[in-house]
Formats: sequence, C-alpha cells, structure tokens
Amino acid sequence: MSQNRDTVRNITGMELGGKITVVTGAAGGIGMALAERFHKGGATVVLADRDQAPLDVGMELGGKITVVTGAAGGIGMALAERFHKEGATVVLADRDQAPLDVIALRLNTQRPNSALAVAGDLGTEEANATLISTAEKAFGPIDLFFANAGVGSGTDLTTEEDVWNTAFDINVNAHRWAAKYLVPGWLARGEGYFCSTASAAGLLSQIGSAPYSVTKHAARAFAEWLSITYGKRGIRVSCLCPQGVNTNMLKGGDNPAGGETTNVVRVAGVVLEPADVAQVVVDCIRAETFLILPHPEVAQYATLKASENERWLAGMRKLQMRVFGV
Ligand code: NAD
Repeated sequence: MSQNRDTVRNITGMELGGKITVVTGAAGGIGMALAERFHKGGATVVLADRDQAPLDVGMELGGKITVVTGAAGGIGMALAERFHKEGATVVLADRDQAPLDVIALRLNTQRPNSALAVAGDLGTEEANATLISTAEKAFGPIDLFFANAGVGSGTDLTTEEDVWNTAFDINVNAHRWAAKYLVPGWLARGEGYFCSTASAAGLLSQIGSAPYSVTKHAARAFAEWLSITYGKRGIRVSCLCPQGVNTNMLKGGDNPAGGETTNVVRVAGVVLEPADVAQVVVDCIRAETFLILPHPEVAQYATLKASENERWLAGMRKLQMRVFGV
C-alpha cells in the first residue's frame, strides 16, 4: 500500500493535470485507487480490466451527503427516498416544514440520523444559502445537491409579471444561488455533484406556457455551463429532462372541463411514475451522464429539432392545434 502511495506521489510530481492516463486492473484495489487519484489530479483516465460493468460505475450514493429540493412530494420525494435507499444521508428541502417532517421521520426510523427537513422559500438567495449551511452544519460537506423544486405556472403573453418572476426565481435562479454557495467548497475539495431538474421542455418547448419553456431552457443552459466550466476540476453535473411524470404538477395541468386530453403533457407521451424516474436518475448518476432522459424518445425529438428545425416547428404547431384548437 505504501508503495502505491509513493508511486502516486512520484507521478503527481510530474503533474497529472490534463494528462491522458491508462490504468489496467482498475476495477478495484490498487488500480482503482490509482485511477481515482489520477482523476482527482486532473488527468483523463482510461480504466481497463477484464469485465465492463465494474469499470462503468461512477458515483455511488452510499454514505454520501445529499440535498434534494422540492422533496415534499412528486419527483423530489422519490429522489430523496431512492438516494436514502442507496445508503445516502438526505436533506429534504421544500417550502413547508410539516410534509418534510413526515418524510424525514420515516427515513430516520429506517436509519437513525440519516435525514433532515429544512423548510424555506427557495426562490430566494437567502433560503438557498441557509439550506446549504444548515445541511453542512448537520452532516458535513455536501456531496450531491439536487435542485429539483420548480413551478409549472404561466401561460401566454398575458402572464402576470410576478408569475414570470417566480418562475425565474425557482426554476433558474435557485440553481444559480445554490451553485454559488456550493462550488467554491467543491473546487477546494476537488469534487462535488450538482444535479438539476429542468424538463423535456428545456430541450424542446412547452406548448401553452412561455414561462415554463423559457425558464427550463435557462435551467438546462445553466447546468451545461457549470459542466463546461468546472467539469475538468472535479465537479460533475447532470440535468434531468423528463416529459410527463405523475405528480401534483402534472395533475395541475388537467383541465377539469376537458379532462386529461387537454393536458398537453399527457397527450405528448408516456407518463412515468416518480419512482421510475428516480431509478433512471440513480443509474445516470452512477454513469455520470449529463443529460438524464427518463423518456428516451426526447433525445430523438431534440435531434430532429436541431437537424430539421422547420419540420419540428410544424409538428409542434400541429400539436398546439390538437390540444388548444387555435
Ligand atoms: P411537484 O409539484 O410535486 O414538486 C415541485 C415541488 O417544488 C413542490 O413540492 C413545491 O412545494 C416545491 N417548490 C416550488 N416552489 C418552491 C419554492 N419557492 N421553495 C421551495 N419549494 C418550492 O411536481 P414535480 O413534477 O415533482 O416537480 C419537480 C420538478 O420536476 C420541477 O422542477 C418540474 O418542473 C419538473 N418536471 C416535472 C414534470 C412532470 O411531468 N411532473 C416533467 C418535467 C419536469
């Protein structure tokens, strides 16, 4: 083991940052330790061993300190529960304390001191700063932060200013504020994982809602920018972009008069359960995939949008007519 450390020290002296390195026997033991240390030193590592599966493993959640916003229900609650099942400590954040306390109690009953509920309006910089400092005081440095809280409000050009502002504050600015307080510590540690929930609407569009389309594009753009800017310095970033998921937000789009056929998200494709989305998220975090697409067809739509934009726009106008009649 000491020989291994000496090897690392010697090679680190040659400056690993930006080097392309190959480590054989990297599925475990000394090989894995070397590969991880080289990576931390800024090297690109090619891992080689007999079997593929153990080499593909990225971040394991067991023992990690995680924060999930929008965790009182829907996708956020499913993410927090799934991370906890993987062995992570979870800090649950949302607007109101009471529903978070119920979830935290359930998780702490399963494993003592493994969950904490922190309430606040995350559409403010102060609440994001407080969430991060509270989580770190309770459990130590945050390994993974999932900015998932969001609103689906707003429609067309008549949308009120305060609705636009709220959409920007929670769907975009909250991500920016969280990153502002997380990234300096992560750069100092040489690692950290930022995940955000945008939407398929952040790659395509949201028929019927300008604020949702615009803010979700901005959320995805911000996640991409983080990955580009800090990806070589140990910070991993993923962006969840689902279509329909069976949550309160989706149900809020059902028009009581017209039934589910007036909900464009339901018309556009399959509606997944939050637990299914959480499973895809955990798989993608393991693989450290940037785009998390629980509906794989979204990748095809995005390709069509980029390569045949006029055709994609025509198709979207047809869908708009089908759902809204104008
Ligand atoms: P949801 O309504 O169950 O969850 C959203 C959560 O965010 C709620 O618990 C809400 O209280 C919280 N929240 C909103 N504003 C907040 C604020 N200012 N401060 C603190 N918490 C706040 O719906 P969901 O579908 O689970 O939504 C989670 C994320 O998934 C959202 O970002 C949403 O845009 C995105 N999304 C949802 C779908 C879908 O079909 N359900 C599809 C694509 C993306």
